[in-house]
Amino acid sequence: MDMQRRKMTKSIIIFLVFFAIGTFLWLTKGNLFYLFNFTYIGLSVSIGAVLNSILSSEKKMWSRKITQLMIGVYLLGVLGFLGHENMQIEGFFFYLLLGSFTGPVIHYFIAKIFGTLLFGRAYCGWACWTIMITDFLPWMKPQKGRLKYWGIFRYLHFLGVLFLILILWMFFRVNDHEYISFILFKCLIIGNLTYYAIAIILATILKDNRAFCKYACPIPVLMKFGTPFSVWKIKIEKNKCTECRLCEKTCPMNIKLLVYMKSNKRIASTECIACQQCVNICPENAVQYTKGFDFEIKQYINYNHIKKSE
Ligand code: SF4
Ligand code: SF4
Ligand code: SF4
Repeated sequence: MDMQRRKMTKSIIIFLVFFAIGTFLWLTKGNLFYLFNFTYIGLSVSIGAVLNSILSSEKKMWSRKITQLMIGVYLLGVLGFLGHENMQIEGFFFYLLLGSFTGPVIHYFIAKIFGTLLFGRAYCGWACWTIMITDFLPWMKPQKGRLKYWGIFRYLHFLGVLFLILILWMFFRVNDHEYISFILFKCLIIGNLTYYAIAIILATILKDNRAFCKYACPIPVLMKFGTPFSVWKIKIEKNKCTECRLCEKTCPMNIKLLVYMKSNKRIASTECIACQQCVNICPENAVQYTKGFDFEIKQYINYNHIKKSE
């Protein structure tokens, strides 16, 4: 009961933090939209947190999926398609180069850059509009270890987008804002349709809902800077753990949780998306989402060849 009350209090605090950010931006930038935007996102996260505290272990994943849908549909559908804001990485790069502190730049700074110092890659676990679709496919638990060198495509993708935006910025009509908005809006539509197609195809072929995150998405490249410092991380209590490995088998990102546990470390992997599947599955209640200050650069991931020799 005490635990449930603590979780409820946490949900209220989360809401108030988002509300405070919205109020601050509203008052400093003079635009009421910021208050609406952050209040809505705070509400979506808080609903997920409340559901997470009241649902049974088997149903807890729905708290995450509901928050993911609420935020994902809002970011892509309302801000992206209706508001014509390119919330993708190309929009972020472009407006950053223009020195324009608008929607995509604020979104990236809060959710994907500075936010990782607090919550790691929680955006990936709880808010991404690409994965809100593939998370409904039947391979939430990956069937195999990770493909070792395929992760390099994420870096190539990142560099490719950066290169294209630099070309656009240097050689095209950057002062013609209407023209640039038109190009970025086209990129948003084509980019998302392509992302969804690749994400679904990869998930189906590799039987892994998160295959797109592991091998194709450029966003983790940005997130990897702050995540090792993240205040909130997963921790396994060594004295409670029976080494049944259920948490490792359930981890959608193929993280070797027990290696961290055995070396008395929290899960500092830059691949952890704070989805809390490991917390929900542990029969001993040994896994918690804890706050603290630490740093670890080493990555412990289950790859195909490692899995075979285990
Ligand atoms: S890695 Fe990319 S696709 Fe996957 S959840 Fe994060 S932002 Fe979304
Ligand atoms: S599920 Fe719990 S008990 Fe089993 S290995 Fe993971 S932390 Fe240990
Ligand atoms: S370690 Fe736990 S929280 Fe992190 S990705 Fe794996 S299952 Fe999710």
